[in-house]
Amino acid sequence: MSTLLTSTCAMIPVARPYIGVEEEQGVLDVLRSGWVTQGPRVAEFEEKFAAYIGCEFAVAVSSCTTALQLALLACGVGPGDEVICPSFSFIATANSIAYVGAKPVFADIDLATYNVNPTHVEALISSRTKAILVVHQIGLPADMRAFQYIAAKFGLKLIEDAACAIGAKYEGELIGKPLGDLACFSFHPRKIMTTGEGGMITTRDAHLAERLRRLRQHAMSLSDVVRHSAKQIVTETYDEVGFNFRMTDMQAAVGIAQLGRLDRLLDRRRLLAQRYTKALDQLSWLITPHVPPYCCHNYQSYMVRLVGDAAGKRDEIMQQLLERNISTRRAIMATHRELPYRSAGGDDSLPQTCLTAATGIILPLFYQMADSDHNYVIDSLHEIHI
Ligand SMILES: *Cc1c(COP(=O)(O)O)cnc(C)c1O
Repeated sequence: MSTLLTSTCAMIPVARPYIGVEEEQGVLDVLRSGWVTQGPRVAEFEEKFAAYIGCEFAVAVSSCTTALQLALLACGVGPGDEVICPSFSFIATANSIAYVGAKPVFADIDLATYNVNPTHVEALISSRTKAILVVHQIGLPADMRAFQYIAAKFGLKLIEDAACAIGAKYEGELIGKPLGDLACFSFHPRKIMTTGEGGMITTRDAHLAERLRRLRQHAMSLSDVVRHSAKQIVTETYDEVGFNFRMTDMQAAVGIAQLGRLDRLLDRRRLLAQRYTKALDQLSWLITPHVPPYCCHNYQSYMVRLVGDAAGKRDEIMQQLLERNISTRRAIMATHRELPYRSAGGDDSLPQTCLTAATGIILPLFYQMADSDHNYVIDSLHEIHI
């Protein structure tokens, strides 16, 4: 089959996970080992993840949503507290705040980076504010020096929603060191590396790590592995209400294999993204991603923003691309306009969030995307009618 036929006959997806034989073998080994839930492979994944990032502690959990919930709990956030976060994020960011009984207070984004705006965050701080939940949206690090300064000035906890940010760098260092108190990653298939479902919390603080390890496992004072290998009778205690937020060893085996290929996944994404930017900067009707000098983007998503006449024609543009067998997605959502959070702000508050949510398009970008398909998307964007 010619490459042209492949490009025009098969639908080009927005994203696709890359899973190889190492992942398959890892899962098979776990299944045959007889230990399938959180055990030795989860411990190995945590060690390798911490070594990759260069952080002291990494705690694996069932998703980034549960990671955020535990991070907030471990920071002492609870009923009556307010947490400032962007509305321009996947709804899980705000939901995690609601789960602990606190109230999300939505700040607007900066139109250049689509990340939450420090000036707006500072303006929203009240006597109830307990923490700032910063999102490194679609893999571009937020302005962390500004947030560190604000958190220190007002005595607030600083948590990073790094769901999309594996491999992204801030001032030359990988996200996850962390730059705040805790950073939370996602391994959902829509992110750069996947375990099917899964999440990871990183921290510098041994006590926080210990508390998180207990909370994810019913607040049990001894892990299953310790109980299982004990040579003497041991009795565990449960000192608070915990959760079952464990990752399984099957997921961890996939994660270990994914981590082994992460640098290659990232290199390819960055190459494709740079090619997009070079080719699409020639178009006057869209704006390509801006990367501030302090950041290294991982391009978990490649989002362009429509401007001028094109701004009101997003659905037509997406339809024209779909007719050419190119899948695209609308931008990230504006959480404050969803039913559970509408009272937190009127429909016309947060203008930059609303504008971006209405005019952003996410283009196909994934590791195994063929050069011919990539060129076909670029050519199509040059050819469609605006
Ligand atoms: C994907 C995502 C989440 C949720 O991650 P899960 O692992 O699916 O729970 C949270 N925050 C942001 C910014 C995300 O993109």
